[in-house]
Amino acid sequence: MHDRSCQTLLTYTPTPIQEIHDPLFDQAGVRVLVKREDLNHPYVSGNKWWKLKYNLEEAKRPGYKTLLTFGGAYSNHIFSTAAAAHELGFESIGIIRGEETLPLNPTLSFAKSCGMKLKYISREAYRQKTNPAFIEKLCHEFGDFYLIPEGGTNALAVKGVEEFAQTLGDGFDYLCCAVGTGGTLTGLVKGTPADKTILGLSVLKGGDFLNGEVERMLEKKTENWGIQTDYHFGGYGKTTEALLKFIKDQSIKNNLPLDSVYTGKLVAGVYDLIQVGYFGRGATILAVHSGGLQIK
Ligand SMILES: *Cc1c(COP(=O)(O)O)cnc(C)c1O
Repeated sequence: MHDRSCQTLLTYTPTPIQEIHDPLFDQAGVRVLVKREDLNHPYVSGNKWWKLKYNLEEAKRPGYKTLLTFGGAYSNHIFSTAAAAHELGFESIGIIRGEETLPLNPTLSFAKSCGMKLKYISREAYRQKTNPAFIEKLCHEFGDFYLIPEGGTNALAVKGVEEFAQTLGDGFDYLCCAVGTGGTLTGLVKGTPADKTILGLSVLKGGDFLNGEVERMLEKKTENWGIQTDYHFGGYGKTTEALLKFIKDQSIKNNLPLDSVYTGKLVAGVYDLIQVGYFGRGATILAVHSGGLQIK
């Protein structure tokens, strides 16, 4: 018999765990490992691969021909959904927040080259993105589609990330990830043994609401997780000179490529938490490199 559960629709490359080094880690008596999940697929990389996995299966089963989703002009989710649709032979539609700017930026020109149809809507209209009447209008315009929410976060996305967490083994005390919508953090909490601590670092300013989002998506109450909200570096998509320098240093010293929206903030936050003694001596910290490096 064919075991369907072992198959994946999208191609997948197994990824390494990379230990990174710094005199700070020796002083603090900690080890820092990075799960290089950014290397799992050339275009549908990192957490987006896992968030899409079961959504793509779900879309294939009843035979949807089209995927429709939402995002900003620089969205990794738009980029990944366009690539996944292209690889699997779906049509795709991206509803983009804001006005069209020409020439298209690299994210949107890549999406377009994958065949994604782009529709721009005003920021006000974009707020309607979960409103059934608005979705109904999109159905009238585009015909039947499989809807993937903004950022790709839904129960099937959480299920995919949960499966990813189960591949991580036992060799760590803390599991750290960047948090946008909280879908990835939720999956990691669900898929990680209860004796570990899972720590999300919010890349959004004012990220305290994410605690409620994750609680809502977790079906049972657990205490072994938390969200740090002080490492947003000015807010979503914002950056600082210090963060950019940190990212450059990591690429040189640890051969670790990071982006400035998610994983740069994650690793910089982990460094700071080590500095302030958050983890305690002897701790092994595993940070999830969730992708986000769109330029290949
Ligand atoms: C989308 C994304 C995230 C955020 O994931 P959520 O599930 O929305 O919290 C983190 N890292 C990278 C690189 C991403 O592209």
